[in-house]
Amino acid sequence: MRLPIIAGNWKMHMTKEVSLDYIKELRQNIEGTDVEVVICPPATLLGVLKEATRNSNIKIGAQNMHWEEQGAFTGEISPLMLKDLDIDYCIIGHSERRQYFGETNETVNKKIIAAIKHDIKPIVCVGESLEERNAGKTESLLKEQVTEALKGLKPEDVKNIVIAYEPIWAIGTGETATPEIANSTIEYIRVIIKELFGDIISEEIRIQYGGSVKPNNIEELMKQSDIDGALVGGASLKAESFSKIVNF
Ligand code: 13P
Repeated sequence: MRLPIIAGNWKMHMTKEVSLDYIKELRQNIEGTDVEVVICPPATLLGVLKEATRNSNIKIGAQNMHWEEQGAFTGEISPLMLKDLDIDYCIIGHSERRQYFGETNETVNKKIIAAIKHDIKPIVCVGESLEERNAGKTESLLKEQVTEALKGLKPEDVKNIVIAYEPIWAIGTGETATPEIANSTIEYIRVIIKELFGDIISEEIRIQYGGSVKPNNIEELMKQSDIDGALVGGASLKAESFSKIVNF
């Protein structure tokens, strides 16, 4: 059985006071949940929220990191710095980083290797654009993204990775992939993992769906055989709606 994992990606939102109120509310609302819960705030709030969530069942994740431990990389944050704050997860290769900040399959691979080395669990984002889906390229694109991202990794490392399937056309658009489309695409990602790392890892690895997940569609998504959780953007910005998603 794979433990469901629901993560909130706050993107470039939230400041200190508001986020502390949010965590207080979330802690109360999700007490006793069986789901693994992760909040990925902007880097400025990582330390504050790690402290605010001590002795709770909420884990904290970064939204990005560099692959080097230190150096002349103005504006970047290293895996050592995340570890210094005791950060649990890091989103790697989000489509917004690929689209606006030059993230490639190669940098995604370097970041995943660095995260694992420092005992930070990667949440690796993959997904196709609308043009790619309409052109029938979804499977070949996903195969390339997943294969390149996980290049050089050992099976025992891969089982600690979370993959987030986020079709770009469903992000922030209100247009969710139907649960069936999301599930069959995630099944295909599991086939790729099976080819690369074998049966056991493909059964153990957790794969989330992301893209316009809301309190009113999470239940149907979570009923699917291969969807192990969600990576939630907009609907994670209010503790009330994110709690409803966690408590689906
Ligand atoms: P939305 O939930 O706002 O569509 O964002 C999804 C996402 O990009 C999460 O990483």
